[in-house]
Amino acid sequence: MRRSEFWLQALRQGGYRLTAARRAVVRVLAESEHTLTPAEIYQAGRRFYPALGLVSVYRTLEKLEELGLVQRVHRAEGCNTYFPSAEGHQHVLLCRRCQQAVFFSGDDLEPLVGRLQAETGFRIERHWLQLFGLCSACREKEEKDDE
Ligand SMILES: [Zn+2]
Ligand SMILES: [Zn+2]
Repeated sequence: MRRSEFWLQALRQGGYRLTAARRAVVRVLAESEHTLTPAEIYQAGRRFYPALGLVSVYRTLEKLEELGLVQRVHRAEGCNTYFPSAEGHQHVLLCRRCQQAVFFSGDDLEPLVGRLQAETGFRIERHWLQLFGLCSACREKEEKDDE
């Protein structure tokens, strides 16, 4: 099943009506490989549903977040961007130029966590890791720009 169909089903099962506005938001965000701000979702969603309003975008994002289907991703300049959630505990690589996001798993944080617990007395319970940089396509573009 495509992710957008799965999201629509989850919304319906959560008791939410599948209005044209919600369908447009799902269509834009579910298949996106880039993190999107509410304003970007609004712009793109109006191609599918010209009467889409920004308030509907925010409300739909809230519901999708409640259902665990989308998560917030922090861009360098702000934290109000959204991306389809990873399954399980994952970390995010984010391209600062095109906002492409890629999940990765695995980390070697144990030594750091142990050291911090010893140094600060905190009991560390969870973490959230996001790395910023340039994707390979954007690296090529930047190299061309420099020529
Ligand atoms: Zn990029
Ligand atoms: Zn981790």
